[in-house]
Amino acid sequence: MTSRWKDVAVAAGLASGDGSVRPTIFAEMSALAAATGAANLGQGFPDDDGPQWIREAAIDAIRSGENQYPPGRGIVALREAIAAHQSRHYGIELDPATEVLVTAGATEALTAAILALAGPGDEVVTLEPFYDSHAAAIAMAGATHVTVPLVPSTRGFAVDRAALETAVTPATKLILVNTPHNPTGTVLTREELGLIADAAERVDALVITDEVYEHLVFDGATHTPIATLPGMRERTLTVSSSGKTFSLTGWKIGWVTGPAQLIEAVLAVKQFLTYSGGAPFQPAIARALVGGDADIASLRETLDARRELLLASLSRVGFSSVRPEGTYFVCADATPFLSADVPDGAAFARWLPGAVGVACVPLSAFCREGSATAEALANWVRFTFVKNDQTLATAIERLETRLVR
Ligand SMILES: *Cc1c(COP(=O)(O)O)cnc(C)c1O
Repeated sequence: MTSRWKDVAVAAGLASGDGSVRPTIFAEMSALAAATGAANLGQGFPDDDGPQWIREAAIDAIRSGENQYPPGRGIVALREAIAAHQSRHYGIELDPATEVLVTAGATEALTAAILALAGPGDEVVTLEPFYDSHAAAIAMAGATHVTVPLVPSTRGFAVDRAALETAVTPATKLILVNTPHNPTGTVLTREELGLIADAAERVDALVITDEVYEHLVFDGATHTPIATLPGMRERTLTVSSSGKTFSLTGWKIGWVTGPAQLIEAVLAVKQFLTYSGGAPFQPAIARALVGGDADIASLRETLDARRELLLASLSRVGFSSVRPEGTYFVCADATPFLSADVPDGAAFARWLPGAVGVACVPLSAFCREGSATAEALANWVRFTFVKNDQTLATAIERLETRLVR
């Protein structure tokens, strides 16, 4: 069987050489965790469902008959709530009629935006490591993926500034930013965002920013949307989602905001991907965005405590890890535990569930095969702390008693 996607996926390093579709590393590690009874700190979805009152709001919406196609741009109440959210948190003023588009999760917003704005001959710059769907969407668009390394340092992972300067050229159509960043947990500083903004302006590139972890920041870190930097509103599409903010990842209610003509371009693609979706979930998320601040604060507090537990445990076991300022992930260097039989992070992630009873994900899964970043992070793995107390305690107990240097 031939498919254009297979050619694209092989070229982009997303499928095996024979074109067979590889399961994502997350699916592979979750299957391994299930088969071995391991505590799964690999795939980053919450153990605990989001607030009861928000779930009840969706049930009410189903009962009251909100079950048919919602408008293509999303229901008015949700678009108004998204605009109010951007105004209240960041001072970004948006027209809900033309500058807000509801999507099937952040994933559809990102994919539709990239398909709408980039094509063959265009370069799309991302940080590396990167979230897997970013690379897939660039490949689907037929554009060329160019990366800028994030380098582990004492203050966290930092943007390689010299690499940013050389990566952004007149061929750059889009710069795709992700902050707070999956998988590293880094929250880009205002200064780093300023360098990215300068680079975009220098070559007249557009910016797409994935901010799905916007509310999950710790240690007093501040999330700054790049759209708030001088001159950036006009060239930026900002993507977010309710999945991570309200622990409702299966609802897939996301959105993209920005200048009307860019939103129009994304809508043109989006209307033929899903057209619309999530009818009863849209009014529930509209209410959550207006009345859910206390729930967000409490999720942030719970996650913060779990982050401290996991960091302390990893350090006792002998990992050196980077303290994340955001997201649900801790990245750690597994070098002290490697051997001839378990030579790198990918081998370690495949070995850990059976040997120790814990699952994680190798950082090489978020890198391009053979890249300098893949090389530099070859021994690194990612653990998630968005798990309930029981799962986390089991994982910590096993790491501390069974994993020996
Ligand atoms: C989870 C995640 C997404 C996907 O968001 P959905 O709303 O579930 O589509 C996008 N980007 C990053 C960085 C993520 O971690």
